Amino acid sequence: MILFLDKGARLHDIEALKEQLRQMGYDSIVQIENNATTLRILNGITATDHASLFAALPFVEKVSPANASFKLVNQNVQHKKSVIRIKEVEIGGGEFVVMAGPCSIETKEQIFDIACSVSQQGAAILRGGAFKPRTSPYDFQGVGEQGLAWMREAADTFDLLCVSEVMNTDDIDLVAHYVDILQIGSRNMQNFSLLKAVGKIQKPVLLKRGLAATYKEFLAAAEYILNEGNSQVILCERGIRTFETYSRNTLDIAAVPILRELTHLPIIVDPSHGVGLRQIVPAMANAAIAVQADGLIVEVHTDPDKSISDAQQTISTATFAEMMQSLSKIGDAVGMRVRRKQTELV
Ligand code: PEP
Ligand code: MN
Repeated sequence: MILFLDKGARLHDIEALKEQLRQMGYDSIVQIENNATTLRILNGITATDHASLFAALPFVEKVSPANASFKLVNQNVQHKKSVIRIKEVEIGGGEFVVMAGPCSIETKEQIFDIACSVSQQGAAILRGGAFKPRTSPYDFQGVGEQGLAWMREAADTFDLLCVSEVMNTDDIDLVAHYVDILQIGSRNMQNFSLLKAVGKIQKPVLLKRGLAATYKEFLAAAEYILNEGNSQVILCERGIRTFETYSRNTLDIAAVPILRELTHLPIIVDPSHGVGLRQIVPAMANAAIAVQADGLIVEVHTDPDKSISDAQQTISTATFAEMMQSLSKIGDAVGMRVRRKQTELV
């Protein structure tokens, strides 16, 4: 249990409070971090039962359960949301940022055509996998470095940032050389050596929730990255595996407001992997902005049926254009502006 104290609490007030706690049977220690004074109750979890009692004590502003496994990502460590700024784009800064592009980079022409189209519709960031985590070793594994070079060129041509997945520690420098954001995929959410390694570089990381990860496991994974010194982490809810088999995954939309309570990190949604069904993707994107996520990452292709990977969940550029219109309307209703470039040609 952590008691956050009022800024007006002086040393003698804190001592008096410690004494009062002692008389209630609790030992505590004072901690001062990021300008916030806290009292950490040391007598284990039984203290949780007394949260309302603690909240009523003088100078106690807020009571929060202590959780040592996610200290740096915790909302209580930093009272305001983290904003990740990459060039002109701010993620977590109050505008809804759209990342769009194919599941996999296939050819130079393909990534250029898609980049041109999503950029015209107002996307800020181009997505595309060059190293693909595939369930079967016989499935298309991605075009590798050549694809990253095409994507970088396409992003620069159409004034976009770009994001791509890195699957292992050996490839970090290579992928980081081409992209603005490194994606850690769902299957690697608990690849601790990879998390530590991306924590050592100063490049934003998009961390996807593991397919069977709890919120706390998700946050603890992010904590690994922050713990190594890289605080530019964006969390992505991308659906979890449930008993439902009709859809590929079950998009846990509640993850957005729940994680918002727990962490200061930006949170985005992936409606494509979240349901795995093309026709449902726009509705899930609408849900993402309705719950005030910081953005989304969506799979878009100029010819979705011909996508080499994830065709069934990839939307067309025309559907993407409609989706952007409806995101703007919902954004207006919930006070969240969809980020659009000045130069867009809607
Ligand atoms: C992807 O973004 O293409 C991807 C493989 O995502 P996930 O790790 O969420 O399955
Ligand atoms: Mn995909």
